[in-house]
Amino acid sequence: MAERRESDSRSLLRRLRDTLATPGGGQDRLDHITHLIADSMHAHVCSIYLFRDPETLELCATEGLNREAVHQTRMRLGEGLVGRVARTGQPINTGDAPSEPGFRYMPETGEEIYSSFLGVPIQRVGEKLGVLVVQSREAREFLEDEVYGLEVVAMVLAEMTELGAFTGDQNGIGATHRFPVMFRGTTGQEGAAEGRVWLHEPRVVVTNPVGDDPEAEKVRLEEAVATLQAQIDEMLIGSAAMDKEQRQVLEAYKMLAHSRGWVRRMCEDIALGLSAEAAVEKEQSTARARLEQSTDAYLRERLHDLDDLSNRLLRLLTGQGQDTGADLPETPVLVARNIGPAELLDYGRRLKGVVLEEGSVGSHAAIVARALAIPLVIHAHRITNEALNGDQILVDGDQGIVHLRPEETVANAFRDKIAMQAEAQKRYADLRTVPAMDRSGQTVRLMMNAGLMADLPSLKSSGADGVGLFRTELQFLIRSRVPRRGELAALYKRVIDAAQGAPVQFRTLDIGSDKVLPYMKPQEEPNPAMGWRAIRVGLDKPGVLRMQLQALIRASEGRELSIMFPFIAAPDEFYTAKAMLLREIDREASLGHPVPCDVRVGAMLETPSLAFAPDSFFAACDFISIGGNDLKQFFFAADRENERVRRRYDTLDVSFLRFIETIVARCAANDTALSFCGEDAGRPIEALTFAALGVRTLSMRPASIGPVKHLIRRSDLGALRDVIETARASGAQSVRHPVTAWLASQ
Ligand code: PEP
Ligand code: MG
Repeated sequence: MAERRESDSRSLLRRLRDTLATPGGGQDRLDHITHLIADSMHAHVCSIYLFRDPETLELCATEGLNREAVHQTRMRLGEGLVGRVARTGQPINTGDAPSEPGFRYMPETGEEIYSSFLGVPIQRVGEKLGVLVVQSREAREFLEDEVYGLEVVAMVLAEMTELGAFTGDQNGIGATHRFPVMFRGTTGQEGAAEGRVWLHEPRVVVTNPVGDDPEAEKVRLEEAVATLQAQIDEMLIGSAAMDKEQRQVLEAYKMLAHSRGWVRRMCEDIALGLSAEAAVEKEQSTARARLEQSTDAYLRERLHDLDDLSNRLLRLLTGQGQDTGADLPETPVLVARNIGPAELLDYGRRLKGVVLEEGSVGSHAAIVARALAIPLVIHAHRITNEALNGDQILVDGDQGIVHLRPEETVANAFRDKIAMQAEAQKRYADLRTVPAMDRSGQTVRLMMNAGLMADLPSLKSSGADGVGLFRTELQFLIRSRVPRRGELAALYKRVIDAAQGAPVQFRTLDIGSDKVLPYMKPQEEPNPAMGWRAIRVGLDKPGVLRMQLQALIRASEGRELSIMFPFIAAPDEFYTAKAMLLREIDREASLGHPVPCDVRVGAMLETPSLAFAPDSFFAACDFISIGGNDLKQFFFAADRENERVRRRYDTLDVSFLRFIETIVARCAANDTALSFCGEDAGRPIEALTFAALGVRTLSMRPASIGPVKHLIRRSDLGALRDVIETARASGAQSVRHPVTAWLASQ
């Protein structure tokens, strides 16, 4: 019986595949296919619904329903039984369709006489393409075998749709991946870019969904699975140096790869006529659909693993992978589920933009994208399913929006925006050599934030007065092991050389919280932002900090050296770190190495507590740098990584400004230099307000220097201070509105 079912299924799949070879348009093929399926399944009706656009399904072919309804009957995603199958990615099998919740009667189809209904999704690796339905007059549920068989058929239809088998004539069916699609994500890095999609992991194309010889396909699958298992075993052997948790993850991975159930299901798919690749994809699609529905964290993780294993298996079977031989387009926009910082750096400035499905604002990839000044949108849900290499794509980093295959009008409006931005940048470039001096002659020092060698050319091009914050952790984040002292010394020397005498404030390693080194054991902390991070790690485990301090001293080669310690919450932390630095200088001197002619030691003020430290602390600091990103999150108790709250409180809130003024006053009273180096320093209105309140050194992204300088030069800081005072006296919660209104009136 099972053999009979298998041979029927194989013969149906072969006939379906043969329709690909027959001349004729997409509609002819679809009509023929519905006829073949209805016939083979002894059903009265077979219908194919395909997506007209991402929200609408359309009846595209039918055997048994009213022909006039073809291309007329449409439903929204989730509407009716067909819409429900599409939305959930799960089959519906019922003997009494009209009583099924959500059933929608469509008179034009004449389907009221059919009682039983079996609908299965046509989907490819979680990408929804349509729904395949069979119906019969008699009230009976379809057998499990029949459901399974129809799913296999749907898989072949999915591959055929993907190959464009149903497009190309007057039936109005657009090929998949042809519609314009807009993605609403989150800003990772501002800026706008137009370009062509470059998929970090190209989609695997299955050109042959039907297997002619099930035995041969089974052998191919089993060989590929064996190779996969061997690869994972090898990873495990190489994991001796890994900690227990990482090994546990790999072990779980191994268990899945050896899971008999997984391989058995794929073999069953092959017995029913699928090729090995299509069988892998079918199981992967099912897992993806479950992943989308599931909220159970453990299950989601396993399904993620399964997805990853399936991808590896597909690459082994098709020989397709990273190296497709395709060339990077001229204006590449990288599209990926996620990407590591080192990989992103490899692409470097060639990229026009980056779009990720995952990631976070503070992720390493985001940090690198920011350093490279590449517009980045994160959380672009499902874009790797939609995008194809070479597709036109517009990245609006300011709004966090991506347009894939945009309509011409959208593209034109977007180009206007890019042109305007380019125009503004040109104007700013002219300001490069002039000082950031306001109308009354007061100057503000504008420095840049950096962390990668890729940043160094910006020192010159931006007109920065130096580097106000060099984030040394980036060099650690982009490596797969702890960098050596010699390597670091060479890097820091290049930075000091590039600055040509302008100051560079090196911040020692700020790891922990969101910045987790790939080779560091992740700490399970209930609240990492307030956990074991930055100077706390440096003092508790001083080995790396000491090595870093030595590298900095050597890099200075007798020149001036500025070092600041991150996340100082209490003076003692600063004193201990500073003593460590002085000890290292003595040690270098005793070894006969040159030591810096002058050492400036500062603290980053990132926790409110430090603003209230004793005067002696301020006096002991050569400089204080406000890390506004962290300071603001602790001042307002609003996580900087949490989209729900991170924009909830205005930087120009009078309470926050009052706090900044307190710090300005404490530094002034103790003759301690002060700068501000959080992201807000690069926002022109915020920067101007800080300057008016007495923060006269601001450190920001290089691209922000032009706009900030432009605004300072056309303002009068004293007059602005009066505007702020008046606003505060009137009881305003934020001075944003009065400041912008004043600027508009200038
Ligand atoms: C800050 O917190 O403002 C800062 C500059 O440090 P980071 O953004 O690297 O935490
Ligand atoms: Mg910080």
